[in-house]
Amino acid sequence: DPRIARISSAIRVIPDFPKPGIMFQDITTLLLDTKAFKDTIDLFVERYRDKNISVVAGVEARGFIFGPPIALAIGAKFVPMRKPNKLPGEVISEEYSLEYGTDKMEMHVGAVEAGEHALVIDDLIATGGTLCAAVKLLERVGVHVVECACVIELLGLKVC
Ligand code: 5GP
Repeated sequence: DPRIARISSAIRVIPDFPKPGIMFQDITTLLLDTKAFKDTIDLFVERYRDKNISVVAGVEARGFIFGPPIALAIGAKFVPMRKPNKLPGEVISEEYSLEYGTDKMEMHVGAVEAGEHALVIDDLIATGGTLCAAVKLLERVGVHVVECACVIELLGLKVC
């Protein structure tokens, strides 16, 4: 698809951020390119419309940028999967491993119902640990995760 090359070239790579040795994939430049940003959303919408998806779950923080326009276009609700202690209501949480240490992801109780079909969205997959935590949270409450989707895949990493 010719749109992929334009999307790819709109993503800026910043060396040594946030730490020396990391090549940070910066999607903020993709958001400045109105055509590439629209193409990104369109590609997801083309893949996921007519798939009976009622929930788009977006992973904090950049899943909050790509998730909502996809949710609106496919007629699904948007559910934020947040870092700990951000959501005001009752939550369920899932701990997951990072390169060093652990983190937690939280979702509001009652945001989804057992039997719903979900799509999980983030900007980037590296090890897959973050997306695995999101899938586990949704599956714990009986939601069927149809697929996880990201704009960027970092190649050459071990996926969980
Ligand atoms: P994983 O859990 O798959 O190892 O890491 C993915 C998570 O780390 C995502 O939530 C993603 O936003 C964040 N992340 C890691 N490296 C980068 C990067 O280079 N660019 C961006 N935009 N996000 C990153």
